[in-house]
Amino acid sequence: MTTYTAQSRIALADPEAVLVPLCEHMSEHGARLERSNGMRILRFAHGHVQFQQSTGATHVEVTADDVEGLYFLRLNVAAHILEFSGDETPRIEWNGDGGALERPPNFQVFTVLHAYDVTPHMRRITFQAEDVTRFARMDALHLNILVQHADLPEPQWPRVGENGLMQWDDPGRRPHFRKYTVRSLDLSARTVDIDFVLHTDAGPGSGLALSARPGDEIGVVGPGGGGLSEADWYLFLGDETALPAIARMLEYLPDTACGKVFIEVADRNEVQAIANRSAIDVQWLLRNGAMAGSTSCLIDAVREAAFPADGTRIFVWCGCEFEAFRAIRGHLRAERGLDKQEHLVVSYWRREE
Ligand SMILES: Cc1cc2nc3c(=O)[nH]c(=O)nc-3n(C[C@H](O)[C@H](O)[C@H](O)COP(=O)(O)OP(=O)(O)OC[C@H]3O[C@@H](n4cnc5c(N)ncnc54)[C@H](O)[C@@H]3O)c2cc1C
Repeated sequence: MTTYTAQSRIALADPEAVLVPLCEHMSEHGARLERSNGMRILRFAHGHVQFQQSTGATHVEVTADDVEGLYFLRLNVAAHILEFSGDETPRIEWNGDGGALERPPNFQVFTVLHAYDVTPHMRRITFQAEDVTRFARMDALHLNILVQHADLPEPQWPRVGENGLMQWDDPGRRPHFRKYTVRSLDLSARTVDIDFVLHTDAGPGSGLALSARPGDEIGVVGPGGGGLSEADWYLFLGDETALPAIARMLEYLPDTACGKVFIEVADRNEVQAIANRSAIDVQWLLRNGAMAGSTSCLIDAVREAAFPADGTRIFVWCGCEFEAFRAIRGHLRAERGLDKQEHLVVSYWRREE
């Protein structure tokens, strides 16, 4: 099998102070750490990274099954070396495969086809793109939308820097990155639908949804992780921002799937039809005048929910405001004793006072 490799010699003032936390961090995120002949080796599903100390420099070699995998490994290693180097900014330059990459391989330009309001505060935009198949996976539902600065005459698209990180022609006016979910996709038409919450105090993401017109070109990076895992019993929780993900997962699951869904929305006008053929029961929780991110209805619902007996494979998925995320994740871990693989609870946004 062909593999792709890139190398970099990096002068680190204190290599241990960088490599120890880097390896710990990557191990927490699924890598397996091995030590062999004075080397540290981090093994991932589709590649590995080797660190070897020599006089005056740390030699780093990344190996992956394909160029996209190599791009991600180089990016991750470079980003974490810089993060754990503190005030020091070591020079990183990759040699080997992947040198010809001009744009990140997960970057695409989406063209707006049309937009309409699904409910008063949820706007659906249909985009067309060259390759939408990469968004069909159910374990990687989201993407980053690049919202351009209004005063730029032309959109800025990312380049791949020699250090493996994204690079911008005008770094001071690089686009805002906002995370959204692919609500649905049509492989033959090469289209994806994304549902944008139109919230008060609109930021770049919500603003883009309001201003998008047919023919507009929008940069997108993705997909990113954070989707469905197989289980015997599901619990899905979320507010409007997580509704696209929950609806997509529900529409994917077979009629034998069972469990519960709690979706918090502003009021009954925000309730949507979901083509749910599973045996999962959907309950809508209405804020009825309370501000988004200010209620305890999701955590109250989890506390009251009856979980199945021991031995059942459980999967709890939740996306919501930061305070609710903290309360729900804490409850699931401390009071329900769920393992890492049994829950995915993510803060989708943070309410600012
Ligand atoms: C993995 C992931 C997937 C996501 N998928 C979706 C999706 O499919 N659709 C979607 O609409 N959102 C989604 N979100 C949430 C979205 O990224 C955030 O709501 C984001 O803050 C919106 O950006 P903005 O530029 O509109 O506002 P920001 O610039 O981030 O914030 C501006 C102001 O608006 C407030 N604010 C932000 N979001 C909300 C909100 N939902 N309700 C009320 N006030 C808000 C902030 O507190 C701040 O005061 C997702 C988030 C994650 C992490």
